[in-house]
Amino acid sequence: MKKRYVNLQEITVKEPLKVDTEFSDKMLSLPKEEVVASSPFKLYIEISKRAVGYNAKGDVRGSLTLRCGRCDREFFKRLNIEFSYDIMPTSEITEGRINKAELDVKFSDEDVLDLLDVVREQIFLNLPFKPLCDDNCKGIECGEIENTENVDDRWNKLKELKEKLERKEK
Ligand SMILES: [Zn+2]
Repeated sequence: MKKRYVNLQEITVKEPLKVDTEFSDKMLSLPKEEVVASSPFKLYIEISKRAVGYNAKGDVRGSLTLRCGRCDREFFKRLNIEFSYDIMPTSEITEGRINKAELDVKFSDEDVLDLLDVVREQIFLNLPFKPLCDDNCKGIECGEIENTENVDDRWNKLKELKEKLERKEK
């Protein structure tokens, strides 16, 4: 059984807690509208006790099958996400000691950290808002331009511009 829960109170100042674990695609149950399929995801996390709160850092690794927002084709995306953030008690907000704009701080008073939540959150943070099979995806014609993949990016942009100008002339 892979480790899923960490009791934060068991972490001492002397030594960070290190966990290597993995969650199956079933456990991750990512939203079907956004993710066609996913591999199991691996998590390595190190949690250290601070004077106030904790620091959590590590990485999340796995891969997803997504659907392109332009051509509707499925494609594979490997994720290798490094993260680091502090976990602070919510009292730190009200006492105004922490700037709420600090993105790498999470507020929680829970003693138990669910590592599945950590992994799911990191995946969501790294899901593209509009997934594209390729930055140069031309939409439904995508399949037809496969052979031009090696063409330089700038050349493609020039071509687009030229086509736009030509359309305007008509
Ligand atoms: Zn596409």
